[in-house]
Amino acid sequence: TPGIRPLVAGNWKMNGTSASLAELHQIGNGFMHGLDAETEALICVPATLLYRAAEILHQTPVKAGGQDCHTGESGAHTGDISAEMLKDAGASHVIVGHSERRTDHGEDDATVCAKAEAAWRAGLVAIVCIGETRAERESGATLDVLSRQIAGSVASVATAKNTVVAYEPVWAIGTGLTPTVADVAEAHAHIRARLLEKLGAEADRMRILYGGSVKPSNATELLAIENVDGALVGGASLKAADFLGIAESY
Ligand code: PEP
Repeated sequence: TPGIRPLVAGNWKMNGTSASLAELHQIGNGFMHGLDAETEALICVPATLLYRAAEILHQTPVKAGGQDCHTGESGAHTGDISAEMLKDAGASHVIVGHSERRTDHGEDDATVCAKAEAAWRAGLVAIVCIGETRAERESGATLDVLSRQIAGSVASVATAKNTVVAYEPVWAIGTGLTPTVADVAEAHAHIRARLLEKLGAEADRMRILYGGSVKPSNATELLAIENVDGALVGGASLKAADFLGIAESY
């Protein structure tokens, strides 16, 4: 989209130990040497690696992020992590409402919205994930689902600076399947239109990422689609060569 700096964000999910930090070094180096500075890059690592990831990436243009946060700032929530804690550990962004969180932890749109607000409170950018299931796509409900998720999980005070929207068809995540170019274009145009209704001109500058089985071999095609302002990359972000290959597609 004209005037929008693209963002390529990795999501390591529940993968990665100390041994994986070598890949982060390589990703950071890739962006310091040669990669187009027009593309912003981010890797959302497991919370256990965040502090070290942020240290490794500190001298590079690549940022470190979290994958989820609690709505509260601190308190009696064993096992949970607040946005303030992620910020303290070196995060700049946090993913909220990933479909795996929505499914595994029963997160609804209201929870996702509250998590995005927690991210803003801590000074983090929220990456709000939305997307239809296979059954919803097959029944023709995709655009209605996206409208409902935007209505419920994107607060009306969201700005282009504090929020990124990620369109991730659930059936395309980790499956090797991707929607057609026409389907991605339709979904992203719909998301932009709903955001414009809700947020006004701010929505013209808001990034809308595509996520779901993005890899070096399909990135050029997907990232060229109108209203696709970057990618959220799961599996292919675990290997530096793949992630850099995707970022180079711009
Ligand atoms: C994701 O989980 O955000 C994702 C897009 O995963 P993958 O790239 O592995 O499909």
